[in-house]
Amino acid sequence: MLLPWRTGIVEKFENLTAHTRRFWIRVPEPESFDYKAGQFVTFDLPIHERPNKRLRSYSIANAADGSNSFELLIVQLPDGAGSKYLFEEIQIGSELKFRGPQGVFLLHQPIIKPIYFICTGTGVAPFRAMLQEIRQKGLEHQELHLIFGTRTQGDLLYRAEFEKMQQEWPSFHYHPVLSREEWSGKKGYVHEVYEELIAQSENKEASFYLCGWKNMIDEARTKLAALGYDKKDIHFEIYG
Ligand SMILES: Cc1cc2nc3c(=O)[nH]c(=O)nc-3n(C[C@H](O)[C@H](O)[C@H](O)COP(=O)(O)OP(=O)(O)OC[C@H]3O[C@@H](n4cnc5c(N)ncnc54)[C@H](O)[C@@H]3O)c2cc1C
Repeated sequence: MLLPWRTGIVEKFENLTAHTRRFWIRVPEPESFDYKAGQFVTFDLPIHERPNKRLRSYSIANAADGSNSFELLIVQLPDGAGSKYLFEEIQIGSELKFRGPQGVFLLHQPIIKPIYFICTGTGVAPFRAMLQEIRQKGLEHQELHLIFGTRTQGDLLYRAEFEKMQQEWPSFHYHPVLSREEWSGKKGYVHEVYEELIAQSENKEASFYLCGWKNMIDEARTKLAALGYDKKDIHFEIYG
């Protein structure tokens, strides 16, 4: 059954990198807006006369904290109608019509195997929420790897936050990988990174969570299947 439409109010926004922006949305009517890490909301944006051409979904980028606000992380696409509207028309106090929380891209519990969170670009959003949820709720877990692929250091989303998280949390490992810039870290694509980590790991058991654009997800699913991983250990959310 479809959830009812609700109104969200833009509380604040802030550029995170040259082309990505964090938006904080408050839902005025409930005392708390509850959801599970990994879920998304769908906006009905005034960008087309046909309702089905107006819908754009965005993963919630933080774990629920008992308040009635949530954070989104959105990339501006050169010819994207929805992201253009969100970047150019939205102001503090703007109202957004949305439906949610939606989706079943959730942490499978109990967490009994090491997890590889694999993403590109804003696909990191649901993983930030899941990592926060594991920490906040003190969920038992094994090793946690975040493999984040992007082009340059300037595109490393939430870099300082993940670096700090890695320092504070021994079971969390942050693996940023860049495809277009030489640097002291890993160079290439996400696939080489998880393949290498798995090859080096004594424990081959693992769960994989994939999020981002279709090409990356298709390639990862093919590679993981070739490595012998079962479909039930591979969870994914495709952005488009
Ligand atoms: C469940 C779900 C969660 C999502 N969560 C997020 C999120 O947290 N943050 C976020 O930024 N987006 C997210 N998206 C994508 C988002 O819904 C829109 O598709 C995106 O903002 C582009 O919309 P647009 O109107 O700007 O572009 P459109 O006008 O719809 O698209 C322009 C064209 O570009 C293609 N395209 C869109 N994005 C890219 C890209 N990055 N790289 C290459 N080609 C692309 C589209 O397929 C289309 O052909 C999510 C999508 C889904 C289904």
